[in-house]
Amino acid sequence: MGTVTRIVLPTGFAGLEAPEVWPRPRSAPRPDRLGASIESLDGVGPTIARRLGKLGLRTVGDVLWQRPRRYEEPVPTKQICDLFGDEEAVVEGVVRSATSRRRGRLKILTARIADETGEIKATWFNQPWLEGKLVAGTSVRIRGRANRHGFAVSSYDLDGDAETGDFAPVYPAGEDVTQKKLRDLHGQALAYVRDVGDDVPGALLVSDGLPIRADALAAIHRPRSLAEAEVGRTRLAFDELLVLRLALLRTAAARESASAQPLGEPGVLIGRYRSSLPFELTSDQERAMQEIDADLDRAIPMQRLLQGDVGSGKTVVALHALLRAVERERQGALMAPTETLAEQHFLTIDELCAPLGLRVTLLTSSLRAKEHAAARQLIASGDARIVVGTHALIEKEVDFHDLAVAVVDEQHRFGVAQRSALVEGRSPHVLHLTATPIPRTLALTVYGDLEVSELALPPADRKPIVTAWVTDDRSSAAYSRLCRHLDDGRQAYVVCPLIEASETRVARAAEEEAERLRSAELRGYRVGCLHGRLPPVERRRVMAQFKARELHVLVATTVIEVGVDVPNATIMIVQEADRFGLAQLHQLRGRVGRGPEQSYCLLVSRSRDELSESAEERLEAMVATTDGFELAERDLEIRGEGQLLGARQSGYSDLRVVRLRRDQDLLERARDVARTLTDEGLLADAVDRLLGESEHLGES
Ligand code: ADP
Ligand code: MG
Repeated sequence: MGTVTRIVLPTGFAGLEAPEVWPRPRSAPRPDRLGASIESLDGVGPTIARRLGKLGLRTVGDVLWQRPRRYEEPVPTKQICDLFGDEEAVVEGVVRSATSRRRGRLKILTARIADETGEIKATWFNQPWLEGKLVAGTSVRIRGRANRHGFAVSSYDLDGDAETGDFAPVYPAGEDVTQKKLRDLHGQALAYVRDVGDDVPGALLVSDGLPIRADALAAIHRPRSLAEAEVGRTRLAFDELLVLRLALLRTAAARESASAQPLGEPGVLIGRYRSSLPFELTSDQERAMQEIDADLDRAIPMQRLLQGDVGSGKTVVALHALLRAVERERQGALMAPTETLAEQHFLTIDELCAPLGLRVTLLTSSLRAKEHAAARQLIASGDARIVVGTHALIEKEVDFHDLAVAVVDEQHRFGVAQRSALVEGRSPHVLHLTATPIPRTLALTVYGDLEVSELALPPADRKPIVTAWVTDDRSSAAYSRLCRHLDDGRQAYVVCPLIEASETRVARAAEEEAERLRSAELRGYRVGCLHGRLPPVERRRVMAQFKARELHVLVATTVIEVGVDVPNATIMIVQEADRFGLAQLHQLRGRVGRGPEQSYCLLVSRSRDELSESAEERLEAMVATTDGFELAERDLEIRGEGQLLGARQSGYSDLRVVRLRRDQDLLERARDVARTLTDEGLLADAVDRLLGESEHLGES
């Protein structure tokens, strides 16, 4: 396959009859102008600049490259007497009165709004900054849906601007910066759009029917239709894929010239490992191990992806690969994307290695200086046979004595730069682990040419997790059920709501919630709390206590999303589950159902009329299936075609614009094109940036 489905350009692209909002071509691009401070835009003083900085917007270029999260379809403006059903509409009126109240963590603002034909009760959720602004007499234009309680507002305008009801981009705004402000800034930044230049050869763009980059950017910010926005997105996705492919070619070239030492056949240590396992390996695990063994016996470095849903048992397979290195008196390392996950792996692997008389070394950047130096020393001398860590493993001062096998866990959360840094200059055999189902073509694009092993079936003694969805008026029943599990000697998780605030506030909320539960629903039980702000020593202690059954319940933020493995934990309550994405809920749910006992996941949400349609669909999907592939597909359907841009799909670190299913053709095309471009050094800057920039992956 070498062609992309041909894209028909709407007028306005490539300078044809450009509509007024699009800037006229200027003589030559001046990329330096994009570095201008955001304060050079109208209406941005130091205070707003600081708030924008928190959204990652510091320069004019940052604004230009920020992508809308989605687009709002235009909806009709209606008179209040004409509102009915569940239809989306815009209403223009005047505030009569406003009140606010709290319900749990939810802040609800209600305003009576009137036009000539009647009055409605409009409701805003969690927008406390609006409180002082909705005073009697203010003219408003609100967009939302009428329901039997009134009118649930989705967007609004306080001074009667026309935008609310129109087709418009929706940017990732925050509490401090309004949507309106962002739209205004994007409008201004478009004046600089020609300065982005375009280093992809014009002939290629023409043959593939792709717009120039400036037009693509203008199209995503000011499209007149979804189709136009999609053409813009397609071009940006093509760039992303092309740069990624070029980067992979560059790292592959380095790798191919390298050769690995064959590790031969499995020996005595592997025999002991297998007999020390408390369970029979599944046939999928056996097959994956054989495939790995075959790779390890070759003189070319292994590049294998081990794919298996949450709970399918990837860790024992990964440890098999690491032990193959140990057997040859060499080193094995496992790199995980977060501290919690690295620590968790450390605990699991250390336990599995204990009967073999092997010690495991942990290296994360939050170790104290002395511990860190000691770990580095063991790694450099080769005394550390198995090392588990975070990105700390790829820092310059870490010098492996003889790394033979590297395992990269949840690799989609690492960028290509980080994945290649572990391997650079050493050419170990590499095993990538993923729980995210990815089509093979995409895997090839993102990871280069690798082989795939799959754990299709979970260990045989697993029962599918039973999932139930209850609204918060019935949450006490959920807690009674949880307590019954505790009384039977099982353990439990309570996941705190996802609040889009600072890590510190999230941590504080989790601690408050743990405290509240200790004196309410969970009185009399030992309740621990885990979040990203805990000092690492403390975090490890809490995890170890939970593993040792010294705690009954772990109240946690999404730090437990990946890797946490305590088979005796058989029930989980997710609070305000409607706020989580489907992929995230699936990952969270994977923390239970890890042993032979029947496990349960109880999703607690607000009442149905307070939920968006897609939130209801997500919760229904969770109840309906535990299959990760099915949920991934369902997720794409729910987010729908309207959700064109921005969503950082499943965390593929280097891909922000690409859409997994839609862009299959495009990614094959990028693969072909990349091969023909390498010699010309095109896009070299972007490739350098991709390979050099090591994006920091935080906790939770
Ligand atoms: P994941 O694929 O999500 O990383 P893990 O490797 O953490 O899954 O395994 C999940 C749980 O299943 C662990 O408690 C592990 O010990 C257990 N497990 C793994 N393989 C088997 C097996 N063949 N039989 C029974 N339990 C197993
Ligand atoms: Mg795992």
